[in-house]
Amino acid sequence: MSPMPRDERPFAFDDDDLEPVGACNLCGGRRFTAVSRSDRYALEVTTVLCEGCGLVFLDPRPSAAAYRRFYRDAYRPLVERYTGRRSDPAGLEADQRTYARKLDRRLIRPRLHGGERTLLDVGASTGVVAEHFARRYGLRATCVEPAPAEAAAARRRGLEVAECQVEDFDPGPRRFDVVLLCQTVDHLLDVGGVLARIHDWLADDGLFFVDAVDFRAVLRSLHRLSAALHADHPYYLTRETMDLYLRRAGFEVVALNVSTVFHLDYVCRKAAPQPIAADPGFARALYDEIRWVQATHQLGTKPSGPPPGALRRLRRRLAGLLRRSDRP
Ligand SMILES: [Zn+2]
Repeated sequence: MSPMPRDERPFAFDDDDLEPVGACNLCGGRRFTAVSRSDRYALEVTTVLCEGCGLVFLDPRPSAAAYRRFYRDAYRPLVERYTGRRSDPAGLEADQRTYARKLDRRLIRPRLHGGERTLLDVGASTGVVAEHFARRYGLRATCVEPAPAEAAAARRRGLEVAECQVEDFDPGPRRFDVVLLCQTVDHLLDVGGVLARIHDWLADDGLFFVDAVDFRAVLRSLHRLSAALHADHPYYLTRETMDLYLRRAGFEVVALNVSTVFHLDYVCRKAAPQPIAADPGFARALYDEIRWVQATHQLGTKPSGPPPGALRRLRRRLAGLLRRSDRP
């Protein structure tokens, strides 16, 4: 896989498509460092790092209308050209079935109390995942899905579908026992706002699952910044920024699964929203890592050693584990 040559780009965002972000969605800070001017598809988008908290995001960011045009006209062909693989709806659904089975077995089933009746799947795609849980646990499932073809596929499975952006979804006074936000959080325009709304929609003893692409893991693995960036993600999340988002929205993490495909999988219970203190030290460390990747990539080298600070963090973690294992 390699970035697409500039003159072969099948899509471009116009200046009118792009909106300045203004304040950081996580910490409210306004000091950002631009770290990249294009993504892996050679689309001219600017990615910045918030100096206050280390959140990485697009700024300016495509508007909701621009994203609709992007998904309608360009997204699938771009992905197909980049990966060299045809996108196949049957293959996609098979992948979603495997995803649902693993999610259920590893993270959800052990934590259900048996009294659950309702499920909300935000960004439900074709409804495969919602259908899995609805059937297995007898749940009444509601899907939120803005893409017309995918919403229609979910409806054909007999699921209730709200065909809209999550920002426009209004369930009234209903509360849900299980809420899923699968492979969607990085695509949202307002991560903090959506998490706060999900907190409202979740029953007091409900279960919330969310997974995010771990930008730091992708960056280290691909060892090329532009390869880790793609304009369909307005946000690039890390363990540190996800933890802050979840705590601020009022979620207690009861399980974290770090998967080999660079996902951070969180299972959460409802708690009180907490004030958060952003860590400029993390922002600085992430900046150093990004520069390290850029510099070593430029030189055509992929160092075998760990990135800056990694050894120090590893020593600290080992010391913590040893302390914990000393406890009776
Ligand atoms: Zn910030």
